[in-house]
Amino acid sequence: MRILIVEDNQRLAQLLVDGLQHRGFAGDIAGTLDDATSALSVSQYDAMILDLGLPDGDGVKWLAEQRARNHLLPVLILTGRDGLPDRIAGLNAGGDDYVVKPVDIEELAARIRALLRRPGPRSQTRLEAGHLCFDTASRELHSGDVRIDLARREADLLEILMRRLGSVVTREAIENALYSFEEAVTPNALEVNVSRLRKKLSDAEAGCTLHTVRGVGYLLQEN
Ligand code: CA
Repeated sequence: MRILIVEDNQRLAQLLVDGLQHRGFAGDIAGTLDDATSALSVSQYDAMILDLGLPDGDGVKWLAEQRARNHLLPVLILTGRDGLPDRIAGLNAGGDDYVVKPVDIEELAARIRALLRRPGPRSQTRLEAGHLCFDTASRELHSGDVRIDLARREADLLEILMRRLGSVVTREAIENALYSFEEAVTPNALEVNVSRLRKKLSDAEAGCTLHTVRGVGYLLQEN
């Protein structure tokens, strides 16, 4: 799950990235509304955390503009503005949740998970393929009745492939989803995760196979 964090306080932004990373989210930081607009145009995000007082403008107005352009991703407003009129304005502009700083990172992660569970094209929580059933909220994977333990990246990788079951997903798209801008990704980091996941699926007789499509990407297919 990839989150765009729009926050001009660099220290807070980094704390959010680190805290969310431990809880299974990859976070990118945008320090201005301009940066946020660019990030949304080049990358796919599952949700956004939005501060309201940004150096180049007001987050409420910007959010309303994004909504008008049909940007539908879940948005959690995280702000110091705690007045009732502010909350109402933020939610009316298209915020899905409104949290006043300071926030506990555990609560923030729980609220993001709750947003991602809401009905919508991107929020289906149970994915199935072959004998596999993956719960995207709890990150638990079962093959039939057998629980399969996955490392965080393996779970993220599997989720991407299950959401595109039967289609080739490019290596680039997977890397963009798994790793944030700032992370140094070694050339074979993805392959290592792919081969571990592939082995776990075959050991568990998952009823589907993770194929490598040479020079393009990866494909999960039911047997
Ligand atoms: Ca601010």
